[in-house]
Amino acid sequence: MFVDELRQLINKSPLDAQALINEDYIKNEYIKRLNNALTPSLKPVVNATGVIVHTNLGRSLLPEAILNYMTQIGSRYSNLEFDLSKGIRGSRYSHVEEIVCEITGAESALVVNNNASSVLLVLSALARGKEVIVSRGELVEIGGSFRIPDVMRQSGAVLREVGATNRTHFRDYEEAICDNTAMLLKVHQSNFKVIGFTKGVDIRSLRELADKNGLYLFEDLGSGSFIDFSRYGLSYEPTVQDSIKYAHVISFSGDKLLGGPQAGIIIGKKDIIDRLKRHPLNRALRIDKFTICALEAILDIYRDEEQAIRQIPTLRMITEPQEITKKRAQRLKRRLERLSIDNLKLSFGIITTIARIGGGALPAQPIPSYGIRVCLMPDSQYNAHDIEEGLRSYSTPIIVRIEDEGIILDARTVLEADIPLIVDAFNTLKKRL
Ligand SMILES: *Cc1c(COP(=O)(O)O)cnc(C)c1O
Repeated sequence: MFVDELRQLINKSPLDAQALINEDYIKNEYIKRLNNALTPSLKPVVNATGVIVHTNLGRSLLPEAILNYMTQIGSRYSNLEFDLSKGIRGSRYSHVEEIVCEITGAESALVVNNNASSVLLVLSALARGKEVIVSRGELVEIGGSFRIPDVMRQSGAVLREVGATNRTHFRDYEEAICDNTAMLLKVHQSNFKVIGFTKGVDIRSLRELADKNGLYLFEDLGSGSFIDFSRYGLSYEPTVQDSIKYAHVISFSGDKLLGGPQAGIIIGKKDIIDRLKRHPLNRALRIDKFTICALEAILDIYRDEEQAIRQIPTLRMITEPQEITKKRAQRLKRRLERLSIDNLKLSFGIITTIARIGGGALPAQPIPSYGIRVCLMPDSQYNAHDIEEGLRSYSTPIIVRIEDEGIILDARTVLEADIPLIVDAFNTLKKRL
């Protein structure tokens, strides 16, 4: 292929080809392409953005302790769908259902590929050809083109919007109910917040209205947390355990605030979950054994909240005291200052930053954090974009953000093991730039 490209160039513009092509060029280009072909496309990166559940960077990190279990199950045959006590076919969901119910207090549970699948399945199974009432303020679009109205259309349910963007009243829901209504849907606003003159209807009143009219009440919680983060100094968000007291059925992601693998978890009344399990879409949306394995291990950690906060990286990053983040930033800064990279003309300073949970969780929730600001001295021949690009091209790419012509590395999402990598990345910059 490389040879073809060279031939084409020679045919098209012989003069350019003559200037460009020599033995060194061919050798270097060949080595570069060979290296590219031999390195896997997917690689670890250092997340120095301060966005904890960063969808582009893989959302939640799995605790290393569970990888052993995943290796064991993945490299051997397992009882994935085999009932060992009876010696007959079993259910792959049985490995996680019970513990989901134990943690959340739900009657029954089902796990699918992701939360977008959950919403599609619930709407298809319970509201096909019928109306679903949603507040206009909750018709959200999540990144990656997941929009509630579009999913609704896919499922065959008919969207009935009520209220205004900023305010929806109880009577708006009440007046929209007709013979063809099947469901009231509440969607977590996830990645935005309407502030000012606002009003929504609480889930408890919606449950009363649903029961009075024989409707389903479905809540798409988005992130869905088992932990009340207000205990750790963040603002209160309803937990899954709180919401399930009112909604008939709830869905949430496995890899957002839960800190586990990509999955959609659906919990609720047993008769509803049984209907979802029998629906043909369920087979198309089913999760694979690695997910079940990782999810089982993560859920097991949740049996003890303190342990969950310590061991699940997403939870640890969200709740880490600011002083500890600051110390990590200081350690990194000291190591960077010890490098001999004078030619880059950089200076390093500790700054306070605002980290974010991301992934459409606690949208208005800033997390006070610390980071390093890398400034370029006025006589530097480089700019912030050169440095950003250089760090991004390192063998373990370092992803940072640029603010006011400076580079910010937020220490909240930097792991201890990332520190030597960041230091080496700056050292490599010195040679390359
Ligand atoms: C994130 C989110 C989804 C989609 O979940 P995935 O697990 O990414 O498929 C759906 N609804 C809401 C409200 C969300 O925040």
